[in-house]
Amino acid sequence: MMSNHHGREFIGFTATSPPMFLPEFIWTYICCPKPRVDKLGRPREAPYGLRKIEASLIESGFKASIIDPDYVFKYLKKAKAVLIGHHDFFAYGPPSSEWWLITGKVPVNRRLFTKFMNKLSSYKKKYGFKILVGGPAAWQWQWESDKIDLWGVDTVVDGEADIAIKKLAQKILDSEPLPKYIYIGVYDSPKVNQIPVIKGASVNGLVEIMRGCPRGCSFCSVTLRPLRHIPLEVIEKEIEVNTASGVTSGIFHSEDVLLYGTSDVIPSEEPLRKLHEMSARHLKSIAWAHVSLAAVVVAERQGRILSKITDIIYSKLDQDYIGVEVGIESGSPKLAEKIMPGKSAPFPPSKYPEIVEEAFSIMHEHKIVPAATFILNMPGETPEDVVKTIELIERLRSYRSIIVPMIFVPLGRLKGARDVVAKVRITREHVEAMKAALDHSLIWSERIINEFYLKEREALALRLFLKYFMKIVRWKANSLYRSLEDFVEKEFVIAKL
Ligand code: SF4
Repeated sequence: MMSNHHGREFIGFTATSPPMFLPEFIWTYICCPKPRVDKLGRPREAPYGLRKIEASLIESGFKASIIDPDYVFKYLKKAKAVLIGHHDFFAYGPPSSEWWLITGKVPVNRRLFTKFMNKLSSYKKKYGFKILVGGPAAWQWQWESDKIDLWGVDTVVDGEADIAIKKLAQKILDSEPLPKYIYIGVYDSPKVNQIPVIKGASVNGLVEIMRGCPRGCSFCSVTLRPLRHIPLEVIEKEIEVNTASGVTSGIFHSEDVLLYGTSDVIPSEEPLRKLHEMSARHLKSIAWAHVSLAAVVVAERQGRILSKITDIIYSKLDQDYIGVEVGIESGSPKLAEKIMPGKSAPFPPSKYPEIVEEAFSIMHEHKIVPAATFILNMPGETPEDVVKTIELIERLRSYRSIIVPMIFVPLGRLKGARDVVAKVRITREHVEAMKAALDHSLIWSERIINEFYLKEREALALRLFLKYFMKIVRWKANSLYRSLEDFVEKEFVIAKL
């Protein structure tokens, strides 16, 4: 996680897969090169969540600093506590769990984290500092609770820790006992004015513009958080922190960037315009973390908001496309109604596939390049639902995009199998959906690289490498399709090691 992925957030997605067609050291260099650090081992850019925790502690008078994992050991003799954030400690999140299920190989993020923790716990026995873990993957510790004692983890913090971390830090300094587990729910989540401004640059200039999501999908934990909009002046301050460190690109983080500044699911032009005009005064380029497909359609149908915003981006910033992640999730209106009735709002779930198609067409026209995901094996899914998803993917063929399948992995200790935490049966329809997505993405990834990606001179080597890699994948496509066939009606398991 302590990498800027060559300044291309999207490359980071490959960092959890096993090395493909390449030795591991080249693969990890491509996916997650080591960060630039100063002589104290402080990375120039650090994950945004850690930056927030660091800022909370500094503002309350604690001496806190983010240190690259390679350098952290030299501080342990004097440190009172090591706080570790991660979005996928044990590789149970997507897409690590998919790689794990399909290849049977332990994902690289799990291997590296285990190695780090084994070493850290041996230092803890010597020096006695506290270990606190948290971040979006805090839930994973319930499936690996034995590791809490094994590694001497003192507290697992689950939820937004901007406020809670200060109380925990004070307890540590006062030598008071720490709780083993803290859950920060909706009512304890920080209010906008309690969220600190970062003190150092974030990876690839990511800045939060909103927290929470109003759509309420049943499979998503973000929906458990209250919706908050970060004021424009606070976003500007964080962008200035990034540019002061030489990070001149930005990523607006939100579950739905187009809903910035609005209290419902209808995009509003003014806050979006102000946000983008402000960013153009400071940055060379921006990306959006996520948008919902329904918001894309509403934004364009009502007052051509999307056209106006992309006009600002392409005329005032130094870029000719914008990247974003989107979640299709399913092409089945029936399944959408059951598990994500708010995803299509203000349109009814029965219209969801048409909304997805219209949104892709609008994004294509406005050079917004989506990396889209859909989810297989959702609770309540039928083969007919998956067929609807396949049909939708086929209808999206003419729109510039990458489409990636995710497999819903229901975690939980299985009866009679002490160490098996997940079991998934892959159906014929799942395999057909994966093939449709692979087909789509193979066609479009080469075109996207040719048209837009890594055009700067200093990125030439990476660009040539990616093109070469795509050629190998194309060349191997038939054997990839054949190996997908081997999955049909097979059961895959994730077993703890
Ligand atoms: S729209 Fe996205 S972020 Fe919001 S609840 Fe649904 S899946 Fe979660």
